[in-house]
Amino acid sequence: MSSIAWLSKRLDDGRILCEACNQRCKLHEGEYGICGVRKVEKGKLRLLVYGLAAAVNVDPVEKKPMFHFQPGTKSFSFGTVGCNFSCKFCQNFDISQYPKEHEHQIFGRELSPKQIVELAKEYECASVSYTYNEPIVFFEYTYDTARLVHEAGLKNIYVTSGYETHKAIDELTPYLDGMNIDIKGFTDSFYKEICGARLKPVLDTIKYAHKKGIWIETTTLLIPGHNDSDDEIRDIAKFQVDLDPAMPWHVSAFHPMYKMTDVPPTPSYTLRRAYEIGKEEGLKYVYVGNIDDEEHESTYCPSCNKRVIDRHGTIGQYVTNLLDKNGVCPYCGYRLEGVWS
Ligand code: SF4
Repeated sequence: MSSIAWLSKRLDDGRILCEACNQRCKLHEGEYGICGVRKVEKGKLRLLVYGLAAAVNVDPVEKKPMFHFQPGTKSFSFGTVGCNFSCKFCQNFDISQYPKEHEHQIFGRELSPKQIVELAKEYECASVSYTYNEPIVFFEYTYDTARLVHEAGLKNIYVTSGYETHKAIDELTPYLDGMNIDIKGFTDSFYKEICGARLKPVLDTIKYAHKKGIWIETTTLLIPGHNDSDDEIRDIAKFQVDLDPAMPWHVSAFHPMYKMTDVPPTPSYTLRRAYEIGKEEGLKYVYVGNIDDEEHESTYCPSCNKRVIDRHGTIGQYVTNLLDKNGVCPYCGYRLEGVWS
């Protein structure tokens, strides 16, 4: 199944510029983008995975991770094959890198935007999440789905590496309610050598989407010896405090995977160190992820410091929420930042 990838334009030299992500591929007839799922055919850029879901699940929204977004609800989650990054630690490399590693083959189960909304309602989900691989590479599929999702009264979440162009964010803004954006590290060399991308466009996307009013949480997978020094952790926290101290930051445990099986898993003390640094720098909400740690996965009111959302489980999926539907603390009346209903 394919569709016109309309977030693109023809250049004076005849090539097609893809305007979905900051890789900004300029493609001749017959060429594929870096993501492997956008290709020029008969003079037009096409999305080869439109309506083809490679992974589909009903997940707790906490798994995205989104902790200040309709806590305790289910999110209908799907993704396709393909990715604009090539992270050596990818946890979903079997779908994200599939086209690049299998001579442009694609796979997926036919699932139209309309069917996604029907299934999300059938499974009593409060939202639809575009996740597992990078959603911006299947932008047109997400866009058509997100519009129908809103018509049905549900919300939309992008789980992304943050390489969206401003133009893509502009198109998505009316429909996108939340984003979890990775800050994979805080050096350009990490992004270039480990992920096949650059740091600055990611930080620009976070700032731009935040300015547009989309609710944002960020995630950093801490990889021993690669992005887990105190200085680098502090730099991420400082960036985020400067932008918005109420933007939740998830510091998550790495497990040896894909091309980084020689790196040990993240020790729990590293996650707690990152948690403390985030708090020291002034972030209101820091959470550890991929380990069961109730104390550091729960939400505390920034005003009275009482625990207002209790979470446990490796993805914080067991939730007791004491906030009201507006996110107001029952002890002191402070309104916590987030999308609560
Ligand atoms: S979405 Fe794919 S084709 Fe488009 S710019 Fe990004 S990597 Fe290139």
